[in-house]
Amino acid sequence: MTILDGKKVSNDIKNEIKAQVDKMIAKNEKVPHLAAVIVGNDGASLTYVGSKVRACERVGFESTMVRMSNTTSEIELLDKIEELNQNDDIDGFIIQLPLPPQINTQKVLMAVDPSKDVDGFHPENFGKMALDMSTFIPATPFGILELMERYGVETKGKHTVVIGRSHIVGRPMSILMGRKGFPGNSTVTLTHSHTKNITQITSQADIIISALGVPNFLKAEMVKDDVVIVDVGITRVPDDTTPKGYRITGDVDFENVSKKASYITPVPGGVGPMTIAMLLKNTLLAREQRM
Ligand code: NAP
Repeated sequence: MTILDGKKVSNDIKNEIKAQVDKMIAKNEKVPHLAAVIVGNDGASLTYVGSKVRACERVGFESTMVRMSNTTSEIELLDKIEELNQNDDIDGFIIQLPLPPQINTQKVLMAVDPSKDVDGFHPENFGKMALDMSTFIPATPFGILELMERYGVETKGKHTVVIGRSHIVGRPMSILMGRKGFPGNSTVTLTHSHTKNITQITSQADIIISALGVPNFLKAEMVKDDVVIVDVGITRVPDDTTPKGYRITGDVDFENVSKKASYITPVPGGVGPMTIAMLLKNTLLAREQRM
């Protein structure tokens, strides 16, 4: 069994990006600038945005965190997005989700200039991805592809089962695994909460990408020998024995499933760090496209 070590690979990617930024600095070029908008005080969202800002510093990017109160109106947020769209100094920006209930998330994501949409959530970019055109691929699926590519995980002709059909992970992942190319050329089954007999489906899978957010959902008896497991789930489970009072748990019963798997991502240290590395990669791409 091989661990798909997202922490290590994401560090390699950050070093590669840093080397490119150093070259930009040597040539007196502008370095990439990422902005992150966060609305409200959700603890997990603040942690994620904090990690993204630290990652920018690590590779030499400029970063800006835009904090807005929990009572921000939709129009105020749309005004801020327009300001970022127009700001020539910002190469790419993200709107940290979830947004408070008074704001229509879809309307907000549609307002982001597609050329600065480094999360790849705008329909224009999503459509390009689905048509195999060059674009910003959403960071989590992009990170999973990169991890599989760097470990040489064979995907051609394999049966990939994706659990979860969210717009940010499951749905794009299913499209990417089925497209022509590497990683890709898989036969894909996309499952969700209405899927019947899911064990029957997962137990036929060569590759399982689990993105549902239910701790320890995928058990050893649901998978076959030598399966490749990618665990996207991140759930905070209360745990009084830890300083923070919780621990991060994936969707997979790692202890038992890993005994049958050929490759498996740990949680934490698997897909999570890859997501941040690929957000940086998309931001570098955004800068290059604006040169
Ligand atoms: P989401 O929007 O919460 O959607 C969950 C999906 O799982 C839905 O499609 C839902 O089906 C499906 N589902 C729920 N219960 C199920 C069941 N019992 N059997 C089969 N499918 C079921 O998900 P998300 O935003 O993609 O997030 C999923 C998990 O990944 C969360 O833990 C999240 O924190 C984590 N995540 C991690 C990263 C990372 O960087 N590692 C990035 C993003 C998300 P329906 O469509 O029918 O409701």
